[in-house]
Amino acid sequence: MKLKKDKVGLFNYTLKNTAGEEIDSSSEQPMAYLHGYGNLIPGLEKEMLSKTVGNKFNTTIKAVDAYGEIAEHLIQKEVPLSMFQGVKNIEVGMRFEAQAEGGGVHSVIITEKNDDTVTVDGNHPLAGQELTFEIEITAVRNATKEEIEHKHAHGDGGHQH
Ligand code: ZN
Repeated sequence: MKLKKDKVGLFNYTLKNTAGEEIDSSSEQPMAYLHGYGNLIPGLEKEMLSKTVGNKFNTTIKAVDAYGEIAEHLIQKEVPLSMFQGVKNIEVGMRFEAQAEGGGVHSVIITEKNDDTVTVDGNHPLAGQELTFEIEITAVRNATKEEIEHKHAHGDGGHQH
């Protein structure tokens, strides 16, 4: 069975940046994903197409097909510290959940701190980076009706709910 729309793939991965540093990996168990629903970054989902159990491969994906280029408009300078009511000791590197335009929340990080303002970056932490994945496919199966309805994989390595 090959990976394509409405199949669930399980895979081990190691993710490295262009400097060869490991950023992330599947640790205890393979990760499960439902193909065809944008559950992986676009460049990786494309590489997964037609792969089957036992396939091992490396792929390098440009930022535009990974987490996107850095969007300047998501970087806000001179945000007053008074915006962070109830948070003491704001430091560079702290993450917050911010209200996104049109509802929902997204994660932002403090990248610079001045006397009474900070710079806040709403880009994905891996935006602007070319990423290399080492992949090993450990299983391919049909998706259940429920997984297709939910547009993601369930069970081991998938969503638990
Ligand atoms: Zn679900």
